[in-house]
Amino acid sequence: SSFKEFGLSPAMVANLEQLGFKQPTEIQAKALPHCLAGRDVIAMAQTGSGKTAAFGIGLIEGLRPRLFAVQAVVLCPTRELADQVAKSLRELARARKNIKVLTLCGGVAIGPQIGSLSHGAHIVVGTPGRIQDHLRKGTLKLDKATTVVLDEADRMLDMGFQEAMEDILSHTLDARQTLMFSATWPEAIRKLSSQYQREPVDVRA
Ligand code: AMP
Repeated sequence: SSFKEFGLSPAMVANLEQLGFKQPTEIQAKALPHCLAGRDVIAMAQTGSGKTAAFGIGLIEGLRPRLFAVQAVVLCPTRELADQVAKSLRELARARKNIKVLTLCGGVAIGPQIGSLSHGAHIVVGTPGRIQDHLRKGTLKLDKATTVVLDEADRMLDMGFQEAMEDILSHTLDARQTLMFSATWPEAIRKLSSQYQREPVDVRA
């Protein structure tokens, strides 16, 4: 199969070609149509499966660049993963003009992040604790966030981020799209999905 089959913008198809993405990976082929259709997705996917582009392509395609507000939030268990996801999203965002992706993780000074947020961002990628800090301070607003991604959701639960994730989700629109990616399928993940997703499509690669 080819990326041309998904109804992507010509700019995105060209960008994927430039990135050397000749054909979708299995998780992309299965998840992308639902992500693009605005459905909630719960995807069982490992690192290396191409999961970042599986949600990233739809995120980028769905952005309104002239709306200077955070429209998507990606929660990650670690700073390393958040940095990697932000890098991938910036590569995918070359298909569109002026898309700002901001990383918000703990372990670094909060001041510069507040400065960056004041200039506006379309997508925020970060760890739950620091994103919660920004919500509490009022330096991050998620009332225009239409998509939330929980990346490596099982690891976030293992690391004790359940309350933080739920708090962050409660700051977003009820009508949001919620995408969950997890390598494993414990009861706690199924419960999180049933509480925060609407008729999710179950995808396994
Ligand atoms: P991920 O599982 O998201 O960490 O992606 C693993 C690696 O696969 C990254 O280096 C991506 O750039 C690369 N990748 C993702 N999708 C594709 C694709 N369709 N074709 C080739 N490489 C890809």
